Amino acid sequence: MKTYKGGCFCGAVQLAVSGEPAGMGYCHCDSCRQWSAAPVNAFTLWKTDAVRVTKGAERIGTYNKTDRSYRKWCKDCGGHLVTEHPHWGLTDVYAAVIPDFPYQAGVHVNYQEDLPKEMGGSGDVLAE
Ligand SMILES: [Zn+2]
Ligand SMILES: [Zn+2]
Repeated sequence: MKTYKGGCFCGAVQLAVSGEPAGMGYCHCDSCRQWSAAPVNAFTLWKTDAVRVTKGAERIGTYNKTDRSYRKWCKDCGGHLVTEHPHWGLTDVYAAVIPDFPYQAGVHVNYQEDLPKEMGGSGDVLAE
């Protein structure tokens, strides 16, 4: 099983993901855009137990506007790390956080608090 290592902007928080993601793409939803101050969010979704924090767990801050998305960042540098989606059992690891992972955007979605159809959601997929 492949493992990909990554971390936050300053390196205080390190994490590793194992295996294959459940999905990946670009999310255009308002939540991702506003939180990340970016036009889109490049995400990779993994089963929760495939994602391990290997260093600096105590440095991680969490904010949840809804009970579907727990957004996490490094309290030292402010760098974004992951968003946990507990009701799906999935964790979004931002593609930029795991530079070794061969990210390929398969879908453009507006998944916000819903899943892409490919992953069991309603399938509000945007035209490229
Ligand atoms: Zn940091
Ligand atoms: Zn989003």
